[in-house]
Amino acid sequence: MILVTGGAGYIGSHIVRDLADRGYSVLVLDNLSTGHLEAVDKRVLFIQGDVGDEAVLDKIFKTYPVQAVIHLAASCLVGESVKNPLKYYQNNVVQTVCLLGKMIEHNIGNFIFSSTCATYGIPNQAVIHEQLPTNPINPYGHSKLMIEQILNDISERHHFRFVALRYFNVAGAHSSGEIGEDHEPETHLIPNILRHLQGKFRSIQIFGDDYATPDGTCIRDYIHVSDLSSGHILALEYLLQNPAQKITEIFNLGNEKGVSIWEMINLCEQVTGGKATVQIQPRRQGDPPQLVATSQKIRDVLGWSPKYDIKKTIESAWNWHQKHPNGY
Ligand code: UDP
Repeated sequence: MILVTGGAGYIGSHIVRDLADRGYSVLVLDNLSTGHLEAVDKRVLFIQGDVGDEAVLDKIFKTYPVQAVIHLAASCLVGESVKNPLKYYQNNVVQTVCLLGKMIEHNIGNFIFSSTCATYGIPNQAVIHEQLPTNPINPYGHSKLMIEQILNDISERHHFRFVALRYFNVAGAHSSGEIGEDHEPETHLIPNILRHLQGKFRSIQIFGDDYATPDGTCIRDYIHVSDLSSGHILALEYLLQNPAQKITEIFNLGNEKGVSIWEMINLCEQVTGGKATVQIQPRRQGDPPQLVATSQKIRDVLGWSPKYDIKKTIESAWNWHQKHPNGY
């Protein structure tokens, strides 16, 4: 049995579906604060609760033979983390420490952690690899880096192995069009552009066009959610197939291509055939100018390879938004 916390969320629901497709037994723990019950695959078990609820965790670990935990439940908005840092330390650090404590108490030593490229801060080179220094510039990045440190420390002391995956910008939707991104409020770039092009609101806002990038807007690396999911499954199999090996790995998961906000708007116009109305706004606090990965390490160690380029990623998101104009 694989426990997926946050399995009702955007990324979690894709990983859960892929795990179920591969025949894994899955238990989802999600408090539904931002997730959707409709997004959870019908083949898996679902428990509504917090990852920081010790009684719920005791019950789960006593009742089910959990082999590994994929921990996705977290708050994950850079801008919000600047405005409300304690929410991020509470949800991402305090609750995760509780989960880790219960895993150790119940002798469960396989952990996959959703970390982030926000751990790097403003990197001193264009393409980010895992050995670069970590200097987060927002509470979200700090909260995730703190857990990486804790994972390193506990793996020294306990039989506890982990793979931390540093996500770049996750986008797109499942090829079936049945699950996709549905946040309220939506803050992410691609769904905001697509919803604007669907006529949901009058303009798309660009947060800052005076960055030191070729067109002045922030550059990000957009990875398809199903490629991200396949990275988790490879990480899980790596842990399960090498039970005697000490594993404390950190891998980037990005598509290795930088796309600026202006370029993204143009690409979304091409995919949808629409024309965007753009408003330039001040910079959003906490945004680094450029975040682009190399994912060479996970390619080499786990044999990961992404299937979606940016155009296919936008097409899959557009398919989802057209099929579900009001979300779930
Ligand atoms: N962004 C924007 N307009 C929007 C949403 C996002 O200009 O409506 C910018 C945001 O400031 C950042 C980039 O697009 O530079 C990606 O933001 P997103 O929130 O999608 O992901 P993040 O990089 O914060 O994880």
